[in-house]
Amino acid sequence: MTLPAGQERPTGRVASPRHPDPWHLNVDLHCHSTVSDGTLAPVEIVRRAHRNGVQAVALTDHDEVGGLAQAAAEAAALGICFIPGVEVSVSWAEETIHIVGLRIDPCNQTLVEGLESVRSGRQARAVEMAEGLARVGIEGAYEGALRHVGNPNLISRSHFARYLVEIGACSDVKQVFQKYLVEGKPGYVPHRWARLEQAVQWLAAAGGQAVLAHPARYRIDETRLWSLVAAFREAGGEGIEVVCGSHTAADAQRFGRWSRDFGLAASRGSDFHDPSESIYDLGRLPRLPDSLEPLWAHWPEVATMRPTLGDG
Ligand code: AMP
Ligand code: MN
Ligand code: MN
Ligand code: MN
Repeated sequence: MTLPAGQERPTGRVASPRHPDPWHLNVDLHCHSTVSDGTLAPVEIVRRAHRNGVQAVALTDHDEVGGLAQAAAEAAALGICFIPGVEVSVSWAEETIHIVGLRIDPCNQTLVEGLESVRSGRQARAVEMAEGLARVGIEGAYEGALRHVGNPNLISRSHFARYLVEIGACSDVKQVFQKYLVEGKPGYVPHRWARLEQAVQWLAAAGGQAVLAHPARYRIDETRLWSLVAAFREAGGEGIEVVCGSHTAADAQRFGRWSRDFGLAASRGSDFHDPSESIYDLGRLPRLPDSLEPLWAHWPEVATMRPTLGDG
C-alpha cells in the first residue's frame, strides 16, 4: 500500500517535543468501517470525523487493515490528520481481549500475516454460530448476517446482531448480544484469537504502539484484570483506553488511575461503529483529564495543532 504524500507513515517511535496542550486536541483513536463491523465506508468515516471537528482520526478495524489506504487518501484530500490503526482480537486466559494498534505500517509483513491468521477462523465460527441460532428457531442467520457484511473475510457477531434486529428477533443490537451472542447464549461460539504477546509483537514490528482497548468491558475480576494489564505492559504495551465508548465517567476515573499506576499513556477513542448504534459519534466524547499523559503528546503529527476542545 502507498499512502498519499503528506500521509507517510511515521517511522519508529519518533518523539517530537511535547505538545503544550495535548488534552484539548480532538483526537479520536478508535473506530470501525465496513471493512470490519462498522456501517460506514472508510472514506465516509474520515468525512464524518472531519465534519465533527476531529483533528486526528485513527481507523481501527478489527483484525484488518484493508480500509486504511482509502481512508488516508480521503484524509489527505480534506486536510485532516490520519493515523493508520487496527484492533487485534486476542485470547488471554480464556478471555477475549482487544488491543488497538496505532501508527502502524499496514504493509509490514509480520503484521499482515499475523492479522491473516487471526481472521482465518471467523468463517467456520460464523457457521457454528448460525447452527446454534437455528437450534433456537432462528433460521438462515449465516446468510442473513452475510448480507450485512462489507468484507467477506470479516464476519463478526455485529453482523449477526444486525440481522437479528432486521428480522425483529430483538429491538436493538445491544439486546441481541445479551440474549443470543454472549457466553452461555445460543449463538455464542468460543474462539481462539491471537496470543497477547504475539499481537503486541506484530504491532511493534509494524512500528506501531499497542493500546489496551476498553478495559472496563472485560468480565473478569480486579485481580485478573490487574494481571492482564501487567502482562500487557510486560509484553511491550504502551497505552490504555481511558475515555472511550464503553466507559462511564466512573470507568474513566478508575482506568485513569490505572494508567498512572502502570505508567501506560492514556488514550481516547469513540469506538464508533454506526450513527444509530454507537454511544459516541466520532470526536464527540469527553477529553482526557489534565492529570494523565495523552498517548499522542509527543506525536509529530499533532505537534503544530491548535487545541480546539473545550472543558464541557
Ligand atoms: P466479534 O469480533 O465477532 O466477536 O465481534 C465483537 C464485536 O461485537 C465488538 O467489536 C463490538 O462491536 C460488538 N459487541 C460486543 N459486545 C457487544 C454488546 N454487548 N453490545 C453491542 N455490541 C457488542
Ligand atoms: Mn466492533
Ligand atoms: Mn473492541
Ligand atoms: Mn472497537
